[in-house]
Amino acid sequence: MIQVTNLKKSFGNLDVLKSVTFDVEKNDVVAVIGPSGSGKSTMLRSLVHLEQINGGSIAVQDRFLVKDGSYSSPQEIKRITGKMGMVFQHFNLFPHLTVLENLEIAPRVVKGEAAADIRRKSMELLEKVGLSAKADVFPAKLSGGQKQRVAIARALMMNPDIMLFDEPTSALDPELTGEVLQVIKQLALEHMTMIVVTHEMGFAKEVANKVMFMDHGEVIESGTPEQLFNNPQHDRTKAFLNRVI
Ligand code: ATP
Ligand code: MG
Repeated sequence: MIQVTNLKKSFGNLDVLKSVTFDVEKNDVVAVIGPSGSGKSTMLRSLVHLEQINGGSIAVQDRFLVKDGSYSSPQEIKRITGKMGMVFQHFNLFPHLTVLENLEIAPRVVKGEAAADIRRKSMELLEKVGLSAKADVFPAKLSGGQKQRVAIARALMMNPDIMLFDEPTSALDPELTGEVLQVIKQLALEHMTMIVVTHEMGFAKEVANKVMFMDHGEVIESGTPEQLFNNPQHDRTKAFLNRVI
């Protein structure tokens, strides 16, 4: 579903991604782990064209976002990235809009769907993330966990085929992470294809079917949670796991 080949990205003379290659199959839940600064966010942001890459290819559902360093047309880029929903560490909700308005603004403006259809879907998704009662509340009145669940519902409004999460729980108090991970786990049970950058090793073990370890802009190794956590092959993976587990 996603093929990333020899992806390169630098900021000035800092090589942040050095020939990153990996595949994501339909229905995969890929957990991306690795130390701070290893390039996890940059990799994720490159997939949705929030970063312009310097070389390599990204194909999503067999269409090239960028091929051998040359980007497709703006329309094609929009079409491809429109199939991916992204959730960030810091929620990024619109503070001046209610929960319901946060969910409905993009479908209204971007897709021009009928208001009644949009309302049906937004209420359905709020129900799904357990926040029906908060429809008319402003983000400032929500807990971090609730904000993040709104952000997930908002991303789902666009009917993505792939969901990308960048440390969705690391800005949350520990007691609020569970409710957010539960929503992501539910999406996994519904076979959503997902890439989740996370520091939650327990979650990676339980929910992901693939784990990818990055260090210094490279994919060092990847495999099933069983392989990666119980039988890591590389010294760098072992050293990282010893630090975090
Ligand atoms: P963390 O776990 O802390 O979120 P990460 O693995 O997501 O780390 P990235 O955010 O991808 O790491 O950053 C990788 C490297 O790229 C870091 O050295 C970072 O300082 C650098 N970097 C990221 N964004 C920029 C930018 N816009 N300009 C310059 N350097 C950047
Ligand atoms: Mg990051």
